[in-house]
Amino acid sequence: MATETAAPEGMSAAAVMKRAREAQSLEQLEQLCFRCEGCPFCSLCTYKIFGYGNEHAPIMFIQTNPSREEDECGEILVQDAGEIFDFLLESVGMSRQSNIYITQLVKCMPLFGRSPRKKESAFCINTFLKKQIELIAPKVIVTLGSLPTQTLILGRTNLEDMCGRWYKIGDTWFFPTYHPASFLRGKMVYFRNIGLEHFRIFRAKLDELGIDPNA
Ligand code: SF4
Repeated sequence: MATETAAPEGMSAAAVMKRAREAQSLEQLEQLCFRCEGCPFCSLCTYKIFGYGNEHAPIMFIQTNPSREEDECGEILVQDAGEIFDFLLESVGMSRQSNIYITQLVKCMPLFGRSPRKKESAFCINTFLKKQIELIAPKVIVTLGSLPTQTLILGRTNLEDMCGRWYKIGDTWFFPTYHPASFLRGKMVYFRNIGLEHFRIFRAKLDELGIDPNA
């Protein structure tokens, strides 16, 4: 869900972090996100995009940040990248409305829609994303692209070496794959072979673990 920024009600970084730690629900956390002025990104974005989907789903997808197109409409994964994402989900009998929750490392669009640097994303991750994960408690986290993968799984390993493989940290399973937008830069055969294969591996493991995305 996206919320328009509201500078007059803004809260400092320290105040937001303290209140976020105490948040008891996703709704409380989203309201804090709406008021957050914890980094310069809030002054540049049209919407804060907190998260979308079924918050009771056992599967969470995490991308890096809102793109310019996403910032303009306040939704996650739109236009061609969104169509590819929906197609890949449908290929394994799932939809973003029913079977997953999707969010991002940072909730506001960085300058010009570029990727945030690690230092720039740290506050948002530590304040909002980690609490979102704690409140939703997904069994599986799918990381879309290199920054979510490096941030949540391992520090410096090459994305290509990690994509399409499973990792278990604590009680949570992690599955890194490419961001759907990356398939727009490749050829259709690449998209079909790699994207569909990753989602096939993803779904097969869910079945093996007894995780029902429709439950
Ligand atoms: S990106 Fe995150 S930390 Fe920065 S202003 Fe937006 S909600 Fe706050």
